[in-house]
Amino acid sequence: MNTIKEAYLYEKLPHNKVKCKTCWRECLISDGKLGFCRTRKNRNGTLYSLEYGLISSLSINPAEKKPFYHFYPGSMLITVGSWSCTFTCPWCQNHQISKHSPEDMESQSSIIYPERLVQMALDKHCRGTSMSFSEPATFLEYMVDVFALAKENDLCNTVVTNGYFTTEALDLLLENGAYAFNIDIKGDADTYQTYCRADVDKVWQNVKRIKEKNAHLELTTLVIPEVNDDDNCLQGIAEKIINEAGPETPWHVSRYFPAYQFDKPATPIDTLEKAYQLGKEKGLLYVYLGNVSGHPYENTYCPSCGEELISRCNLTVGKNILHHGKCPFCKTSIPVQDD
Ligand code: SF4
Ligand code: SF4
Repeated sequence: MNTIKEAYLYEKLPHNKVKCKTCWRECLISDGKLGFCRTRKNRNGTLYSLEYGLISSLSINPAEKKPFYHFYPGSMLITVGSWSCTFTCPWCQNHQISKHSPEDMESQSSIIYPERLVQMALDKHCRGTSMSFSEPATFLEYMVDVFALAKENDLCNTVVTNGYFTTEALDLLLENGAYAFNIDIKGDADTYQTYCRADVDKVWQNVKRIKEKNAHLELTTLVIPEVNDDDNCLQGIAEKIINEAGPETPWHVSRYFPAYQFDKPATPIDTLEKAYQLGKEKGLLYVYLGNVSGHPYENTYCPSCGEELISRCNLTVGKNILHHGKCPFCKTSIPVQDD
């Protein structure tokens, strides 16, 4: 079966070179070479994705796992990923998937074309699809085709991403039925330059654009000791969220565990609680702790009267007493998508 497909976004250049226009790296790729992410190859002046339908992992799990806390609470999403990433984070919690190229991992993959994935979602009564595990930008062509087909079948499409799509790629996704995004915010400009070799402004530009296009948006920061856990960095992220996306945007501050090339100890719970407080003090209305099961800051509270509205534990929704999108006590509107 064939998992090679001509890339949707690239430019042909003289001497059989190409410029990939999928993410902001905008790799210039010579004939026979791969791009930075090793998922795209120039063959005789044509750029190909090497992982169309090449699936490293598939599972059906709740929206809360992405995490999405304001998107159809308790709904199930069929979730897939392929291989590799456009970033270089040394703490990657998914390194078994994101640090391998599709060319090396073919024998450990399944092949699932869009028609079959959408049929599986329908058969299993999922609310929608989710592109996750590895960085979805690397398999943009597959994601676009899945989303278009899923949308025709009334499924909601979600993306969990580092947010480094070019504007053209982001617009292509939105035009083809991307409904919700969870973007990872790694830290400040220094964090991005030092660890990800990326430009933070491009990520914020996409945050703003997603919001302007009225797609559902939640943001996540993996809080890592000595990387992004100082007050200035966390306050700066909270401020940026308010300015670019608005105070009602959910911000998940998640616990890091040692992984890949990082051996700093797991994030202390009180550091996450500090991040929560800083976010709230800056004016964010919905801040959540992640990877800390059973913590009260996993729950949704009314920002006006403080009542608990949605409770969560172990990625499961306990109670949800929202009434037509409003707090039943003080009638404040709460921005949670629901049927
Ligand atoms: S998707 Fe890959 S090949 Fe394309 S610009 Fe980004 S890193 Fe480069
Ligand atoms: S962006 Fe995400 S998947 Fe990619 S290396 Fe960083 S943590 Fe891993």
